Amino acid sequence: MKLENRIALITGGGRGIGRAIALAFARDGARVVLAARTAQQVEETAAEIGNEGIALPVVCDVSDVDSVQLMFARVSAKFGRGPDILVNNAGIAESAPLAKTDDDLWQRHLAINLSGTFYCTRAAVPAMLERGWGRVINVASIAGKTGAPYISAYSASKHGVLGLTRSTALEVAAKGITVNAICPGYVDTDMTTRGVENVTAKTGRSADQALEAIKKMSPQNRLITVEEIAALALLLASEEGRGINGQAINIDGGSVLF
Ligand code: NAD
Repeated sequence: MKLENRIALITGGGRGIGRAIALAFARDGARVVLAARTAQQVEETAAEIGNEGIALPVVCDVSDVDSVQLMFARVSAKFGRGPDILVNNAGIAESAPLAKTDDDLWQRHLAINLSGTFYCTRAAVPAMLERGWGRVINVASIAGKTGAPYISAYSASKHGVLGLTRSTALEVAAKGITVNAICPGYVDTDMTTRGVENVTAKTGRSADQALEAIKKMSPQNRLITVEEIAALALLLASEEGRGINGQAINIDGGSVLF
């Protein structure tokens, strides 16, 4: 059991990548806290984990600093301390041409994807420093390293996450804490399904054609699975992963090579 006695907080933990990470961490002995804006999916995932492990579902909007503070207070009330492992996974992805990227769309991406990651990290790190052990894992994107048409807000927010990752990693490197980012290509989740629907609506292509085009962006001509992301997160969270720090690791079949 790689994560025995660890408490892991996973934002966006009710579905998709966050859910897979929560299940993998719980299987390896962690007590997990699952956070999302609405209760249903985090409660369902927590109930699934609850048969064999310990899971706490929490409603939290990561873009709201007060909501984040309340979530950390709930974790401390339940477990007597803050999380040892923080996975900043909650995120949104909406596309629009730059000229049609309105202020709301822009602010939403920065607020959830970037400020949400910052608020949770700032809340988690002091207790990790006190204990001399911690892991912060940010689910960014290959869009945090490179650009693509129609995703300027998303891409800018994920580039920001990588800057936050690298600077925080160096600040805490000597204190037993690592901070890393996972940069997936297209993953088989609701987010990609919504992307396919969007392409279909805007281009008139069939859903199959749109999905094939997305798959072809990877040299492996396929979507990444959530289990592949969870396996990498488990390595980063474990003791064996302690030498990996400040990295932004692509898991995209080789479409981005830096
Ligand atoms: P998803 O839409 O299935 O899940 C996103 C999760 O984030 C949901 O649980 C949602 O409730 C939660 N969330 C959204 N806004 C929130 C907020 N304000 N507060 C709290 N929770 C909030 O998507 P996914 O594919 O599982 O994405 C997870 C992460 O992976 C995201 O950060 C996304 O940008 C990143 N990512 C996804 C892909 C992909 O192809 N699916 C690729 C690269 C990166």
